[in-house]
Amino acid sequence: MGRRRGCWLLLAMLLGGPLRAAWQDDYAAAQRLYQPGAAAADLDAVVALSERALLQQPPARRVPEVQYLLGRAAYDRGLAAQALAALRAAVAARPEVPEYRLWLGYASWLDGRPTLAIRLFQALLAESAAPPEVRKSALTWLGSLHEPPELRALEPGELLTLPGARLRHHRGEAAAATVRQALEAARATLLERLGISLDEPVEVVLFRDLAEYQEYHRQRQIERPEWSTACTVNGRIFTYPAAGEHDALVATLTHEYTHVALRAYADDRVVPTWVDEGVAVLLSNQFGGTRPALRQAPQLLSLRALLVPTFSAYETGVARLAYLQSRAMVEDLLRQHGAVKLRAWLRALGQGQEAGEAFEAVYGLAMGAWYDTWFREGLDAN
Ligand SMILES: [Zn+2]
Repeated sequence: MGRRRGCWLLLAMLLGGPLRAAWQDDYAAAQRLYQPGAAAADLDAVVALSERALLQQPPARRVPEVQYLLGRAAYDRGLAAQALAALRAAVAARPEVPEYRLWLGYASWLDGRPTLAIRLFQALLAESAAPPEVRKSALTWLGSLHEPPELRALEPGELLTLPGARLRHHRGEAAAATVRQALEAARATLLERLGISLDEPVEVVLFRDLAEYQEYHRQRQIERPEWSTACTVNGRIFTYPAAGEHDALVATLTHEYTHVALRAYADDRVVPTWVDEGVAVLLSNQFGGTRPALRQAPQLLSLRALLVPTFSAYETGVARLAYLQSRAMVEDLLRQHGAVKLRAWLRALGQGQEAGEAFEAVYGLAMGAWYDTWFREGLDAN
């Protein structure tokens, strides 16, 4: 029955039926159609009707509720960009409404931006004035995103606020001073080499040792391999001081900070792995002696092999080659085209462009073609 009504409405609209209807009529019709478990055709009609209602210039104070309805129907329909745009507008107009922010969290997740979603859910959970059902939904989502709030109890208790960063550490932890220096160095390097700076403060969680770091990730149900010294999850950096290795900790933090900054610059989009890791090892000066090492490699990796979601799934030798090669490629890309183009590419990713398309638009050739030239000539360039 609901489906039929949706089809009828859509048909009426297509035939130029109630085109002159006041925005209230469209909005009311959309509200009637938006039911739990509504059929796809009904959701499409809700989207179309609320869009049309918005075009008919409702009074400003009523606009956010129409955007909210549009955003929910678009989300239910899997239309990430549309849901995100509508809910962002609703939240911008009325940030005090918890439901708007909850749905903005859903839409951010659907759009592949879990960091933003988690930030919104955590804020809602911390708000005692938010309705219980909103907080319950936020709680459920945080659990499914591997960020259950009870994990916070396992984090070190001391909080230090630094320029551009927050550091969670144990009282009396000597490595806290090193972390502070490392973050300052990382920020300066990133600004100097790439012209990128982070607006949001980054959070660093410094565990006491490997055992505590690993236990925390076991509780998150995302276990870390034994050799892992740090990781970046949803805009937060987790690490521990490897005994006495000051320089290693500085390099590790610079590496992870770079991941956070690149991703934030790309508006929380995933940055293709060879660029993400290549820039990170380049700025933290890891995997030095890159070119001699690559010349000795029996075979280089294909572009496809450098576009896997993470290098950590590779066995050690292949992973090492992947980092070395990514660093050399990023070095050459930056030398040929500069940081301005890299930033333009990251911004295009942030606008939702597919990585390959954005590369071609910014650099003027396909990523595969650039890689082929690099493969032939790259190692001789330096
Ligand atoms: Zn990395």
